[in-house]
Amino acid sequence: MNILMVAAECVPFIKTGGLADVVGTLPKYLKQQGHDVRIIIPKYRQIDGIKYNLKTLPFRLSVMVGKEQESFRIKTCMLNDNIPVYFIENMRYFNRLGVYGDDNGIGYGDNRERFIFFSKAAIEAIKAIMFRPDIIHCHDWHTGLIPAYLKTTNAHDGFFWNTSTIYTIHNIAFQGSFDAASTVPLAGFSWEDYKSDKLEFYNTFNFMKAGLAYCDIISTVSPTYAKEIQGDAGKGMQVVLQPRKNDVYGILNGIDYSYWNPKTDTNIVANYCAENFENKSLCKKYLQEKCNFKIDENKFLLGCVSRFDNQKGFDLIMDSVGTIQQVGMQLVVLGSGSREIKDGLLYLQHLYPDTLRIFTDYNEPLSHQIYAGTDAFLMPSRFEPCGLSQIIALAYGTIPIVNKTGGLADTIENFSQSLFTGNGFVFDLYAGEKFTDKIANAYDIFRNKFLWNKLIQNAFNSNYSWDSSVKEYEKMYNIAAQRRLNYTIYGI
Ligand code: ADP
Repeated sequence: MNILMVAAECVPFIKTGGLADVVGTLPKYLKQQGHDVRIIIPKYRQIDGIKYNLKTLPFRLSVMVGKEQESFRIKTCMLNDNIPVYFIENMRYFNRLGVYGDDNGIGYGDNRERFIFFSKAAIEAIKAIMFRPDIIHCHDWHTGLIPAYLKTTNAHDGFFWNTSTIYTIHNIAFQGSFDAASTVPLAGFSWEDYKSDKLEFYNTFNFMKAGLAYCDIISTVSPTYAKEIQGDAGKGMQVVLQPRKNDVYGILNGIDYSYWNPKTDTNIVANYCAENFENKSLCKKYLQEKCNFKIDENKFLLGCVSRFDNQKGFDLIMDSVGTIQQVGMQLVVLGSGSREIKDGLLYLQHLYPDTLRIFTDYNEPLSHQIYAGTDAFLMPSRFEPCGLSQIIALAYGTIPIVNKTGGLADTIENFSQSLFTGNGFVFDLYAGEKFTDKIANAYDIFRNKFLWNKLIQNAFNSNYSWDSSVKEYEKMYNIAAQRRLNYTIYGI
């Protein structure tokens, strides 16, 4: 099959969260199954053209954003030596310091224009590179307009006659909702299409709704989240998802174990593996030193690597800091995003400098050092579509302490002291006491080296690779392609 991924992020080029990991990793596994897979993302200023040896294709294209004609170029390079990646380059929209907004998590005022432009430009780019896709796989609200364009403004474009669209929800909290009166003409849609079963969503123009209404198949990133968003957790979108429930697939994300591998990771001070993880203690020592903590193997060292966002449960983390300090544990947090969360954490660091260390940037090497050097990983998310951080933590023999929601519920199971089963600690009510109880519970087990080593072993044995998920994606692509075929041949 010819499969084209369109997204706002992709590792290793640009990443703010798990979306980038998925878009950069799933194609490798699809390629191994024999598919021709390509990727389109924006050419952000942060993507270094020299480092990635980007070549500029020999044409200049343009699309309309409202009444403005916006031109762009396409740059390209290979991912993994065999997956072409195309970058849409437009200085006005993508040559800025942030990806979606400023350092404090405030989105750019023209994100609507940026992703109208990107969606239209992606469609033109697909034609320019003459790659006729069987599947266009769109990710999150930034690309929600693509399925809508293909079924409205571009409905008679023979180039896409055999193309089906998949829309994957990575996070239902980010929908791209805007004022309809200005957005319908800006995006170039007809008011005919602004109806409740199409573009309209509670009197607004909503990019995610557009994607969900027009795509052939909908997916999201874990089975539990797929169920949750059809109910109260749907943030309004349940009314769109429920009628299409047979088209909604929940496929768990995997991680790239060749990258997230303590045996070969060059970002950590000492390598280790499931069979011999003695060196994990050297990683812990290094991290304690870096955090100005007391260097002590017996201190329970907790970690967190996360976007600073209300979703991630930082209110519970902040509430737990007092207990962590009293009991003599240590906590290191790496994150970026909301100013409020950053300030709250920095204030607590000021109060408890011996137990709490906050790093407030986006720092890939440090994230690896935290995954490797900590004993347990905190992820008390309010909701979590899939979550990769807990899976990465497991790969480094670091024990997740999580809220039972979405993908966390699908990947982490409570440790049983009698059966020696389970790979972490799970609390099932979003409340400070429940969370601190679980931290205390984990600390008890930590002090029993026999049990803790069993638990670490279980963490290493938990395997969430793409091998099984990629098969489910293939099944879904086949269903979407068959549907398109039925439509083009039989009109059904
Ligand atoms: P989300 O996509 O909601 O942010 P995930 O758990 O799915 O959450 O993915 C988060 C990814 O982003 C992980 O790979 C994590 O290591 C990484 N990450 C988050 N914040 C940072 C940061 N400040 N520095 C480095 N990596 C980060």
